[in-house]
Amino acid sequence: MAFKKYNLTPEVEAKVKWDREHMVHWVMPIGMNSGFMMDHADGISWYDSEGFQVFDGSSQLMCVNLGYRQDYMAEIANAAAEQMKKLPFATNFWGFTNEATVAAGQELLKIMPEGLECFWFTPGGGESIETALAMARWYWKLQGTQKYKIVSLENSYHGMYFGSASATKVGRGHFTNGMSPMVPGFLTAPDYYCYRCPLGHTYPSCGIECAKQIERIIQIEDKDTVAAVLLEVEHGTAGCIPSPPEYLPMVREICDRNEVSLIIDEVMTGFGRCSENGNSFACQITGVRPDFMTMAKGITSAYLPMGAVATTREIMDGLEGHVTSGATYSTHPVSCAVSAKVLEIYRRDNIFEHAAKMGRYMKAQLHERLVESTPLVEHVSGNGMLLGLEVVKDRTTKEAYPHESRKMFRLQERALDKGLYVRVCDQSWAPGNRIMWCPPLVTTETEVDAMIDILIETFKDELAAEYAEGIRI
Ligand code: PLP
Repeated sequence: MAFKKYNLTPEVEAKVKWDREHMVHWVMPIGMNSGFMMDHADGISWYDSEGFQVFDGSSQLMCVNLGYRQDYMAEIANAAAEQMKKLPFATNFWGFTNEATVAAGQELLKIMPEGLECFWFTPGGGESIETALAMARWYWKLQGTQKYKIVSLENSYHGMYFGSASATKVGRGHFTNGMSPMVPGFLTAPDYYCYRCPLGHTYPSCGIECAKQIERIIQIEDKDTVAAVLLEVEHGTAGCIPSPPEYLPMVREICDRNEVSLIIDEVMTGFGRCSENGNSFACQITGVRPDFMTMAKGITSAYLPMGAVATTREIMDGLEGHVTSGATYSTHPVSCAVSAKVLEIYRRDNIFEHAAKMGRYMKAQLHERLVESTPLVEHVSGNGMLLGLEVVKDRTTKEAYPHESRKMFRLQERALDKGLYVRVCDQSWAPGNRIMWCPPLVTTETEVDAMIDILIETFKDELAAEYAEGIRI
């Protein structure tokens, strides 16, 4: 993120300074901030306090699926205000329920893969993971087994609480060294990053060895001790890296064969983000149904905090007799009212169909206009509107820029200065150097073109700087 000196008014400058001294920012060394003030948003852009427009090329944290369209913001704000005036808080403990909770659940059910029909609502994505991990373990305990181990993938991201962080493997060390020891019973399988295969294989002649390794781990550990496999269908935080199409069906079979629950984490990939043909969730691309699905982000277009876990009736029956403890904000009625409205808009306005069309357009344009115009981008990959651009120093050798070059942050800063925000991955903690290209699902072709124009200019300037600095001759 940019650290340049902004021309702020003295009032804003003072507030930014106060923020730097008092507020801790995630994913930022303590005592630092970006130096500017986000002020308001419109369309697919946000604006700083000085009125500078920034296209939101990554939907902030891949979460504002509806962007900032004024008509949607007004409709959703109304739903929130009505609920605030009627019943601002309502616990879901002890069987209490309310209209907003039922409305959100009913809307959610309409877009779920068939058979996933029972829900826990949570305050966010990490809490959804904690819930799914706990419920998978409870389920197997109630079946009279000793199964408790959890297998997750290298480069996965599942959250920052102790359970979800123990399953998170991207940035191992980087994010968790200071808080370790982590929770025991979490195992790591190789991931599916084909461009830099951790097993040294080449797709598709590899026979999807990374999926087979999951079965090997289950068997080495003893399947009677393994409760669940937890995975993203496309790595989000690690740089929008899709799994090959054969992968998920193979893992489903492995889980079935070994009586292990499959937890699919759709916190980032859900709610049309990976829409290829109007599908709500990434697992629907290959028709695989998990035993538990975790969700958040797009469930409210991130306008209020909320997450969910879905499971089957069969697993619910298996959990009968277990009393689940929740958190105060699990199933918050205002979040539920917002979610019900957001889910209604997704369906009513065919947002996931639009996302599929726009995803195809973006991929083609990025290939034709960007990859063709710069040696620094090797390829574009991903599902729907969750795309990753592989940035390399040398396309032939696949050499990546070292972290010390600050290449990814330089690119991010250049783009931001020109009015485009994109999230980046750096090799110091992610498996490769990647740009995460994930604008709001409501983005139009004209907006895609404008954003790609800025990205092309960004890479052009960076290449010119490399020549000027003698890095490239
Ligand atoms: N799972 C995935 C796949 C995520 O991408 C994230 C957050 O980015 C989480 C879980 C954690 O969600 P939250 O940040 O809401 O706790």
